[in-house]
Amino acid sequence: MPLIVELTRFCEDSRTLEAAFSPTQLPRLLDSVADTTGGVSMQVRGWVDARDRPCLDIQMTGQLWVLCQRCMRPMPVDIQVGQTLAFGEESLDEAGDPDSVEVLPPMEHIDLAELAEEELLLSLPMLPRHQDCDLPGPADTGKQSPFAALNALRSDAGDADRQD
Ligand SMILES: [Zn+2]
Repeated sequence: MPLIVELTRFCEDSRTLEAAFSPTQLPRLLDSVADTTGGVSMQVRGWVDARDRPCLDIQMTGQLWVLCQRCMRPMPVDIQVGQTLAFGEESLDEAGDPDSVEVLPPMEHIDLAELAEEELLLSLPMLPRHQDCDLPGPADTGKQSPFAALNALRSDAGDADRQD
């Protein structure tokens, strides 16, 4: 389901677009989700910045289901994306572009569905886990590695800041 817009015109006219996606409409996302339930809504706003670059503000909210990497059962992931994209040259002045702005090469047309897919893939956790998963992981059920406990400790610590 492509959603192709003419980038410069979309931004110069300050257009907005709202769309809703289910995982079945985003083929590349299908590999990363547990099933096709859930969905995401997207709001895109076009504008032109002080450097005359077309810019898009993208907001996405929703929920997708992924597989918990410990028990391999589905778990929900809340989607919250807020991203600004600027198309053109990077700012070379002292301040540069703020961290919240991602600069992409200029393009004539952009497929907003493809963009949504990209942002979603980036926003999914690398190692999704139930917060209080009640099943031992595959590493704990089969051959026990002497380092399994250590690895579990480490990955728990690494996950600590992405559990909210
Ligand atoms: Zn689990």
